[in-house]
Amino acid sequence: MTTYAIEVPAVVTLPVAGTDAKFPVRRVYCIGRNYAAHAIEMGHDPDREAPFFFQKNPNNLDVSGEFPYPAKSSDVHHELEMAVMLQSGGDNIAIEDALNHVFGYALSLDMTRRDLQGEQKKLGRPWEIGKAFERSAPVGIIHTVDDVGHLDRGRVELKVNGEVKQEGDLNQMIWKVPEMISYLSEYFTLAAGDVILSGTPAGVGPVQRGDTMDISIAGLGAMTVPVV
Ligand code: MN
Repeated sequence: MTTYAIEVPAVVTLPVAGTDAKFPVRRVYCIGRNYAAHAIEMGHDPDREAPFFFQKNPNNLDVSGEFPYPAKSSDVHHELEMAVMLQSGGDNIAIEDALNHVFGYALSLDMTRRDLQGEQKKLGRPWEIGKAFERSAPVGIIHTVDDVGHLDRGRVELKVNGEVKQEGDLNQMIWKVPEMISYLSEYFTLAAGDVILSGTPAGVGPVQRGDTMDISIAGLGAMTVPVV
């Protein structure tokens, strides 16, 4: 039996609807700029740019139901995203095979210290201090594929203090979930426990302490996240 030189860090786990069994998180990938603000994509678009990804840390995912306003920023933005949870993975996964690796889906927020991200962008530096801060990704309960199927269309909405700020449809994703999984698997070995935040529709903007975010995605229900 292995003994450890220090205390073993806790495994990050997420709740799953309809069961007490938890989903253990391995890695968190986030896709950048993935919604066309206008027309629904139909098939292949030769003009679309290759997707790009960044990562958050597994323990940035937060199921507490509230978002603590982070230090070192005065411009923290909401980004409502559908999270995709993988039950298996591999390298060079074919697009046609990709959905077989999906365990379920959840509501999530890719909260962003936009001011810090902007400074890093200007300097050509990595984004971590803007993106991968503590509790930067509030996430809801996971709905399994067995329960809700695969979600590729349906309304996506975020309100701040009752006012709609972000709205779109899952079918406006430029890179669809199977394409995202396939593309990522060319660069990384995907595996059970990986989580992909699938990008945000138009309308991102700042929140303040005391605000309330109401988020919903058709098929995944709704969640209220106060900024504390
Ligand atoms: Mn995002």
